Amino acid sequence: MKKIEIGTAKSEPGKLTYGFVDALELPTGTQDKLAVMIAQGKEDGPTFFITANIHGNELTGIGVIHDVVTQELAEQLKGTVVAIPSLNPTGLRLYQRYPEYQDADPNRQFPEGRFAKPDQDDEDKKFPKPYEQVANLIYSILEKYANYHLDFHNHTLRSIPYSIMDRIFYDGDDEKEEAKKLAAKQLGMIEAYGAAAMVASDFPPKKYINLKYHRSCSGAVLNSLRIPAFTVEMGSNNVLLPDIISGSVKGTKNVLRWAGMLESPMEKVTEFTVPAPEHRVRRFEHPRSEHSGIVRLLVEPGEKVTKGQAIAKITDIHGKPLGDGFIRTDHDGYMIALKDEVTIYPNEHVAEMGIKDEYDMIAPMPPKK
Ligand SMILES: [Zn+2]
Repeated sequence: MKKIEIGTAKSEPGKLTYGFVDALELPTGTQDKLAVMIAQGKEDGPTFFITANIHGNELTGIGVIHDVVTQELAEQLKGTVVAIPSLNPTGLRLYQRYPEYQDADPNRQFPEGRFAKPDQDDEDKKFPKPYEQVANLIYSILEKYANYHLDFHNHTLRSIPYSIMDRIFYDGDDEKEEAKKLAAKQLGMIEAYGAAAMVASDFPPKKYINLKYHRSCSGAVLNSLRIPAFTVEMGSNNVLLPDIISGSVKGTKNVLRWAGMLESPMEKVTEFTVPAPEHRVRRFEHPRSEHSGIVRLLVEPGEKVTKGQAIAKITDIHGKPLGDGFIRTDHDGYMIALKDEVTIYPNEHVAEMGIKDEYDMIAPMPPKK
């Protein structure tokens, strides 16, 4: 059996083992540590990583990991499941998105990898910031051991569970076939996760890079390490909903079945339903407001909407309509995530929708100069 050792967590065939890996020394004299769980089967097989809570206020993945990664799983597995229930322990304790020691999105701090530009003059690159150091550690652990990776998030409070298909970048035509194969594997995983989440491709390639999604956890694992990986946004941010956990546990086990790591039959998700669009959809921040004002959403998460439909009411603080009083969509599509806030400024979006994806899943690497 493959031996896995991450900090004090050591794999043992047929057992669930636990431990911690040192992440960052804190100025107050203790260590920030990441908890690690290893469920290893008695038979050889792939190593599947499940991670969660990189955004400290996105909680559902912790519950899913606790229910999936059990002694019972270790007894049935072919291969090994490694789980890190919180990639951002200080964020979890403070119940906030960012870690206490870096006021920036932790899910954009993973190595540039294949996207790195030759940039000798950039002195900052020699001195990774605090969470960047943690991200480098997590990345190196995945690089050493992972065959597959699944990262759990939650979008807004009123959002549906959805799987994100990252764009896959290739460097020159030689890599195009390999990128297509990687995309097919990623799609296989996502389809196995199945009805536990609607499927949406990520933003178009240019926006994907501008937002540094290639430096997100699953984005870096997929694009730089070329390991099949995806993110699930489970909806219902900030709360643990038992039905979402239970359906997501089934989806996760179905991915392990797809990977040949569990022999039991695929389970049906009955806890909730998500839309099954007739064509591939992509994430799209839409519709946007022309005014500053107070918004009230008129649609439900998951709802199918048509071009011209009013998505939100918009008024001033006295309750008087602004413009014709509505924010309308210019696209047919599905409501993925409704904004939590009631206030809005010009150009801000009230929701994220899934609209028809006219872009390829694979794209050429952006130029390095
Ligand atoms: Zn997140």
